[in-house]
Amino acid sequence: MKTVSRIDLLRKSIGQARSAGKSIGFVPTMGFLHDGHYSLIDRARRDNGLVVVSIFVNPMQFGPSEDLAAYPRNLPGDSSGCMKHGTDLLFLPQEDAVYPKGFSTSVEVSGISETLCGKSRPGHFRGVATVVLKLFNLVQPDRAYFGLKDFQQFLVISRMVRDLDLNLEVIGCPTVREPDGLARSSRNVYLTPEQRRESCRISKALFQARDDVKKGEAQAINIKAMIEKHITLIPDSRIDYISICDADSLEELEKIDRRAVVLVACHVGKARLIDNILLNP
Ligand code: AMP
Repeated sequence: MKTVSRIDLLRKSIGQARSAGKSIGFVPTMGFLHDGHYSLIDRARRDNGLVVVSIFVNPMQFGPSEDLAAYPRNLPGDSSGCMKHGTDLLFLPQEDAVYPKGFSTSVEVSGISETLCGKSRPGHFRGVATVVLKLFNLVQPDRAYFGLKDFQQFLVISRMVRDLDLNLEVIGCPTVREPDGLARSSRNVYLTPEQRRESCRISKALFQARDDVKKGEAQAINIKAMIEKHITLIPDSRIDYISICDADSLEELEKIDRRAVVLVACHVGKARLIDNILLNP
């Protein structure tokens, strides 16, 4: 595995792989890697000749009162994990390489960026879309891999790629969970042992929602009430949103009569946790 920080060296390595006829798979991350990230790298490894992983904690996607400074980091662990999972090129750009002095461009994917997490975290998806477009331009991947755990992010990136005719395929990969069901997240380290134990109520409520819909429940209001009841039992929790949406447009649904997604965001102690599940009525 080769590790590079400089953009010119990244381009050189990628150019060499291209000349050798290799397809390029790309996994952008913010580091503190876990099995969720590694599942994307494994998939990229299966599909491509060259696997590129980036680690960059992107300041542009954090709000002023969010956890940018405290965001967990573990470069030695990440680096050995990437190597184990068959990464060819690990890209660790410095902030001034991504955002050189005078940087003044941003990418706005309107509509789907403005609801749910976009409403609670204004500017978040502008930061995500901007950095991801920049990384796509640097890496020029054939395929890019994103976790469906961040469902809205996956839709925002897919829409950007479609709207701007970027020549790559965006691949959504299933959410990797802890044995008790909690979605794996770098932010789970913020949880106290008790909060961690109780946080599995989020995924349990989502699984219950999927089962209820399978059995014929079609009223979003009933599903939301059931989820709310579960989540309020978690100590130090505060619900940000519970939403049931069309799985392509994120239009809020009252009746679950098509492919839909239940999305939840809640604060548990110092952590803001998100999770979702697809519903096929
Ligand atoms: P992050 O480092 O949190 O920005 O995440 C980098 C990528 O890993 C994103 O595409 C996430 O959706 C994905 N990811 C994070 N957690 C999981 C998970 N539990 N299962 C699958 N993918 C994940």
